Amino acid sequence: MAKYKNPVLKKGGHKVTSPFGMRTIWGKKQMHNGIDLVGEGATLDYIIAFSDGVVKISKYSLTAGEYVQIDHGNGNYTRYLHMKKGSRTVKAGDKVLKGQVLGYMGATGNVTGAHLHFDINIGGKYVDPAPYLEGTKVFETEKPNAVKQWQLAAIADGFKFPKFGADGKWGNECIAVAKKAVCKKRVTYKYKNLTKIVQNAVGVTVDGKFGKDTKNAVIKWQKLVGLKADGCVGPESWKKILGVK
Ligand SMILES: [Zn+2]
Repeated sequence: MAKYKNPVLKKGGHKVTSPFGMRTIWGKKQMHNGIDLVGEGATLDYIIAFSDGVVKISKYSLTAGEYVQIDHGNGNYTRYLHMKKGSRTVKAGDKVLKGQVLGYMGATGNVTGAHLHFDINIGGKYVDPAPYLEGTKVFETEKPNAVKQWQLAAIADGFKFPKFGADGKWGNECIAVAKKAVCKKRVTYKYKNLTKIVQNAVGVTVDGKFGKDTKNAVIKWQKLVGLKADGCVGPESWKKILGVK
């Protein structure tokens, strides 16, 4: 039997009985918003949590049967449907760890046979769980603070923020660094980490070297966003790149 890198069945082996996507049931086209799995010997398997999280729902419903929904933070949710009656081991509010048993595979709710329906919802939208189970896709975590990333890059390039450090807030210390950091008058290979941020933003090869190509791309980008097109990445350009208001 096939095995997932991030299984939702304790024994690990599984067979996909119905994948994510459009399917025809009783002549009707329907969207299947999850993946249907059976384990080794169909019902002989425990259902386990896909990832760490907090139980949001653990109850019975006519269609989903005995089911559990877990909140993994940052808008990521997973659900485990059609569990065996009386097998749920968690309740709403419980903290769960990846691999923790949630219940037992069953055939409760609107089903034709025992299986686990597993689905993943990201930011209000169901996505194909297969790549997540296989481990080729992962839940996105909170967006990193762009200013903090920039401050850390500046520190790595030898700058200092003596009073506030890398606090993720744009202030006078940042402006002072931004004035010196990457500029056409100081075409330099020195500020490698900051230059990489610039190159990412203006869409040129990211090699950390502020050469002619980068400078031209900066000028083009500055025209596009309505800044003074001088090829100098000063405070105004940095604010635009980092999304500082
Ligand atoms: Zn299903």
